[in-house]
Amino acid sequence: MAKITGPSRRPEPALRIDLHTHSTASDGTDPPAVLVGLAAAAGLDVLALTDHETLAGVADATAALPPGMTLVAGAEISCAVIDPEGRRTSLHLLAYLFDAAEPAFAAERDRLISDREHRARGIVDALRGLGVEVTWEQLSRIAGGAPVGRPHVASALVELGVVDDVPSAFGPQWLGVGGRAHVRKHATDPVTAVRLVRTAGGVPVLAHPAAGGRGRVATDELIATLAQAGLAGLEADHPDHDSSDRARLRALAGELGLLVTGSSDYHGSRKPRIGLGQHTTAPEVYQAIVDGATGARPVTVPP
Ligand code: AMP
Ligand code: ZN
Ligand code: FE
Ligand code: FE
Repeated sequence: MAKITGPSRRPEPALRIDLHTHSTASDGTDPPAVLVGLAAAAGLDVLALTDHETLAGVADATAALPPGMTLVAGAEISCAVIDPEGRRTSLHLLAYLFDAAEPAFAAERDRLISDREHRARGIVDALRGLGVEVTWEQLSRIAGGAPVGRPHVASALVELGVVDDVPSAFGPQWLGVGGRAHVRKHATDPVTAVRLVRTAGGVPVLAHPAAGGRGRVATDELIATLAQAGLAGLEADHPDHDSSDRARLRALAGELGLLVTGSSDYHGSRKPRIGLGQHTTAPEVYQAIVDGATGARPVTVPP
């Protein structure tokens, strides 16, 4: 008699989840639909599109979803605090699954976008003052209607032969903090931003909290204040963090009761060494983010 065997006990393969990526709707180089295709090819099951200040790429990304893949709508919000000594710390807040129509948060995103244009014009003026023949027309062509960021300016500097590549433009010579063409932009107070995201039904996660290459980073005290205001998580696993940063952020998240996420912060060819899915988020953490959101749901096309 043939032995009757039970169903295979092979475990389900773990979902691959990347919760921080950029498209041409901000300063990435892949259009949203292309990004979704690349994410599928990279074996991702869940992709969050988190362009700077905007959801503008979400419709195209959603329309391009292959069967079985899930899109999480998000945005990366520019924040800053000034300490009593007048020193500024820039932070980025990832906002997931918020209601795009909630007016207070929508108004703040609009303000961030319009101030980016104002700042970009200031950078063009500063560069022209340094003898660089960049024009606003060139920069707006490169940005293609997206909220203008320094990476777009960096691409203009590459086009003009001023620097060899995008990262070189972020040095102190040009666009980096303290650089000759560094111009500050409006950025939201992070406690206000956390509250705005929550009010819009979204889930706020602090992006790359230890990425020091961009200037001062958030203190543990500030992170604790944000946690009290409603912050949900810390992006510990990020290409700009080393293993000690990651361990420290995991410990801090544990103390504060915060989730720990991991993501690539993919920008296409503007960050050539970063691949989709380079860091990923655990399925149970992803589920906690989805469960915590009341503003929007992830979108999946059935297989
Ligand atoms: P902005 O928000 O316009 O001030 O520009 C910040 C953007 O520049 C972020 O998306 C960063 O990922 C990117 N960025 C910062 N430093 C570098 C660098 N060294 N190389 C490439 N991109 C960078
Ligand atoms: Zn960016
Ligand atoms: Fe960022
Ligand atoms: Fe980012």
